[in-house]
Amino acid sequence: MHLVFATNNLNKLKEVQSLIPSSIQLISLKDIGCIEDVPETQNTIKGNAIQKAEYIKNHYGYDCFADDTGLEVETLNNEPGVFSARYAGPQRDANDNMNLLLNNLKDKPNRNAQFKTVVALHLNGKLETFTGICKGEITQDKKGEKGFGYDPIFMPNGYSQTFAEIELKLKNDIGHRGKAISLLVDLLNITT
Ligand code: IMP
Repeated sequence: MHLVFATNNLNKLKEVQSLIPSSIQLISLKDIGCIEDVPETQNTIKGNAIQKAEYIKNHYGYDCFADDTGLEVETLNNEPGVFSARYAGPQRDANDNMNLLLNNLKDKPNRNAQFKTVVALHLNGKLETFTGICKGEITQDKKGEKGFGYDPIFMPNGYSQTFAEIELKLKNDIGHRGKAISLLVDLLNITT
């Protein structure tokens, strides 16, 4: 079976393909001729995941799934949340975003945070969503070179290293995206 994953991020496509049974072959947006930016203008993570999956179904006719992720920081009223990618501005720079967050948390004792991924699946005329959460805390400084985004300042609960210091395999096992994708896989295994 072929299934469109509404992303043009080839690293993400590879990462998610490795979590999905090989009987399901993922297809990228480029593969279906979608080269425009898929709109993500909703004000929630779930809203954006659904908007992307519906856009592909409505404009290209393919069953597909889409994901959206945000980092929610407790003491900042769950910000940056849906604005995680452009927290420090439209340049979407990971270092700028981390610096702003560390600055906004200066002198704040509560550093609890969670990553949340929502996956929206359009399959056989039905829409389903799957949520994966990984709880942890924001460190005082950046540590580690692996990963991307906020990984250097996020330490998952129960670990003494940041996401940027641990192996990708472990991040997938305990992380937000891996959890949401594993719920998706459970449903695909039942349906296909
Ligand atoms: P997206 O919805 O996957 O594009 O994620 C939105 C933004 O959240 C990204 O630009 C990153 O800043 C951040 N983000 C998403 N997933 C991760 C992750 O696994 N680690 C660190 N940051 C992430």
